[in-house]
Amino acid sequence: MKKLLTDYDKASLAAELAPLGAERYRAEQIYGWINRGTDFPEMSNVPKTLRGRLAEEYDAVGAAIIKEAVSRDGTVKFLFRLRDGSLIEGVLMKYKYGYTMCVSTQVGCRMGCAFCASGKDGLFRNLTAGEMLGEVICANSYLEKKDPGARVGNVVLMGSGEPLDNYENVTAFIRLLTEGQGVGQRGISLSTCGLTGNIRRLADDGFSVTLCISLHSPFDDKRVRVMPSGRSYKISDIIAAAKYYFEKSGRRIIFEYAMMRGFNISAADAKALAGLAKNFPCHVNLIPLNETGSALAGVNRREADGFLKMLAGLGVSATIRRSLGEDIEGACGQLKRKYTENNGG
Ligand code: SAH
Repeated sequence: MKKLLTDYDKASLAAELAPLGAERYRAEQIYGWINRGTDFPEMSNVPKTLRGRLAEEYDAVGAAIIKEAVSRDGTVKFLFRLRDGSLIEGVLMKYKYGYTMCVSTQVGCRMGCAFCASGKDGLFRNLTAGEMLGEVICANSYLEKKDPGARVGNVVLMGSGEPLDNYENVTAFIRLLTEGQGVGQRGISLSTCGLTGNIRRLADDGFSVTLCISLHSPFDDKRVRVMPSGRSYKISDIIAAAKYYFEKSGRRIIFEYAMMRGFNISAADAKALAGLAKNFPCHVNLIPLNETGSALAGVNRREADGFLKMLAGLGVSATIRRSLGEDIEGACGQLKRKYTENNGG
């Protein structure tokens, strides 16, 4: 496999291309092109001979859109093909304040959550930083055509994969987003099932992205039934790591909580959850479970509102996440699954 140019930041790209005779300003031109998703033939201000030499050793584009599904609410789900043929998904959501892109960080996932479609076949491989950046670059190219002037302003690492199981590449991606796409850490959210060591590492490395932690139950014994990673990472340790991240970054922690009927929405659940969410700035994002074929059931409007009310009564800051793209297989892994089933993959 050729080296991928979007894996490099500006300085390392200049160092990488210097032996090919590319001066610094030339490397900067190329850096600009690759961040707009431009392939070698269209790099019009770069000499043809250099483009030819680059193409022998490098790829300029790490991800390509091979399918898109547009929802009635404007949400767009992309199916991307990576250079090795791997398929991943990304979702572009339109909010009042702008566009948010949900990116995948791994092909598959090894966390094995019972309700999630992305991890059903385990982990295939990590994405590189430049491949994750490729998802955002593709989304911006798409917007250039559909909504001129608009750009991805926020990025959430909530697609397939466990970002903290791919720490080096994910943190490199966060830096590239800021340098190459103008998306600062205030506009980035990272969602984890709670890998405590790497939550602390993220804090120690000085990151200030919004940390989202998938909780889904306030009780260890119940949580492990749907999240096998809970065997290694106890809730009390996750809360301690979350507090540590808050202290270092100053950022409020978000807990994600997929509501499941008969499983995690009782008064006892609300009480225990309120106990965990005490004494530090945090917010609970309630997500109506998107049913993906497991035995776990979602909730109706009344049940969701009921649980929210219980939490509010206990002084917990919580909201129900608006569900976008319900008509386009919006939940994790569903579009890819459908595509591979229809195409014999
Ligand atoms: N691995 C990371 C990020 C990917 S999933 C994590 O575990 O946080 C992003 C969020 O969607 C997580 O909170 C995850 O638990 C949730 N999720 C996965 N499948 C879901 C489903 N079918 N319905 C509702 N939420 C789901």
